[in-house]
Order: sequence, then structure tokens, then C-alpha cells
Amino acid sequence: MTRPRFNRILLKLSGEALMGEAAFGIDPDTVNRLAGEIAAARSAGHDLCLVVGGGNIFRGLAAAARGFDRTSADYMGMLATVMNALALQNALEKMGVDTRVLSAIPMSTVSEPYIRRRAMRHMEKGRIVIFAAGTGNPFFTTDTAAALRAAEMGCDALLKGTSVDGIYDADPKKTKNARRYESLSFQQVLADDLKVMDASAVALCRDNNIPIVVFNVREQGNLARVLSGDGTATIVQNEGGNDGGL
Ligand code: UDP
Repeated sequence: MTRPRFNRILLKLSGEALMGEAAFGIDPDTVNRLAGEIAAARSAGHDLCLVVGGGNIFRGLAAAARGFDRTSADYMGMLATVMNALALQNALEKMGVDTRVLSAIPMSTVSEPYIRRRAMRHMEKGRIVIFAAGTGNPFFTTDTAAALRAAEMGCDALLKGTSVDGIYDADPKKTKNARRYESLSFQQVLADDLKVMDASAVALCRDNNIPIVVFNVREQGNLARVLSGDGTATIVQNEGGNDGGL
């Protein structure tokens, strides 16, 4: 099945995508490889913005389970995403790609504050905008931040780069005969509680008619393949494709 070719996309990378083979932190080689793929997508004519997670450094929920105050822990998690955003920016700028980091938590010495109109202007100028600090609010995730920014920026699709090549009916790492879905409706994902993104992110994409494309970002060249409508992935969209909405 061929998927549509999307023009303006938001790429969501989990913090773990930046770890490489390590169990924690930022692996420079991995960041450089990802930056190369993102730069190539830009050269291919896609308008790109990014949301990066922080799970490679700090996760609020995990810290709260170990006794941290949840809100403080979530702010720490959001700060972790800023470190990842700066790492990606650094790698992209070394490749000559114009980028801007816009943080939902104002941090004027390291990034611009998130202002929607400014972000739009950067994108119009062909810059890659990296959204940092999630939504700026505790009790949310960077998946929800990705859905929110995708809607605000008028993106045609949200690409979720993971370590699996799509959505399966069972965990492919544990179940031998797990079957990958080619496409799913938002309704199916929510009703069957399929672990794609959290429910608030899925609902936001559903309500704004933004397809979610889940693909394996660890495999070299996959971003380009998926962007051209090829490659292995699962697309989640409104029933009847991308022309429905509510
Ligand atoms: N976080 C938050 N609000 C947001 C986005 C993120 O509080 O809008 C915190 C939360 O503690 C989360 C951490 O930042 O655990 C890192 O984000 P996330 O877990 O989404 O990163 P990923 O799993 O994508 O690496």
C-alpha cells in the first residue's frame, strides 16, 4: 500500500532515539546520523519541525514512582528535552541547516520562547524548528506536545519515529507471530488501547485530522523512505483516509 506524500510534517523523536546502543544519555554518532536524515528530508523539499522527548535522561513519572514530587519531576523531564533539542540543533547546524529551538519554558539565554507566529515565520523561511520543553506543563508528555504543535503549525502528518516499524497486534519483541497493521483508524487505536501515543495525543490528532505515521527511525534511510510514501510503517488516520475529519 502506498501512503500519501506529506509536505509539512512534524517529526517526533523519543529521547531514546538519541541514545544509540547506550542505556542512557546522548550518543553523538546517533544524533549526527539522525541530523543527516533530517537534513536530507529538508533538502527533499519537506517543511519540517521536530519535537524531541527526554526519556533518555529523565522521566517524570518514573521519578515520581521513586518518591519525587510529580510536578517537580515533570519539570525536570521537560528540561531534559531542552538538552536533547540543543544536541539536535548543534548537529544540524554543523551540517549547514538553519534551525531554531523554541522552548515552551522560556529560557532566553539558550533558546527562543515558544511563540506560535514566530515558529510559523521560521518555517516559512525554511528553517527547521525544534520544539523543546514539551507543552510547558506537568502531567503531559512530549507525544501530546507533538500533536499540539503539529496542529498549531498546520502539519499534514505527525511522524513518530520509534524502535519498531509500526503498530502490531501484540508486542513483536515478545510474540513471534505478531502482525503489523498497515493502517488503523484513530477509533481503533483508542478503543483497543493500542500503545502508539498517549490517548490525549491520539485524540488531538483525530480531532484535527492529522495522520500519525509510526515507523522505525533507528534504521538508516527510513525517514526518507517513509516521507516518500514508501517504507514500512503504520498509518493512523480518520476512517476514509485524510479527507474526513469529524
Ligand atoms: N513532560 C512534561 N510535560 C510535557 C512534556 C514532557 O511534564 O508537556 C515531562 C514528563 O515528565 C516526561 C518527560 O518530560 O516524562 C520526558 O518526556 P517524554 O517522557 O514524553 O519523553 P520521551 O518518552 O518521548 O523520550
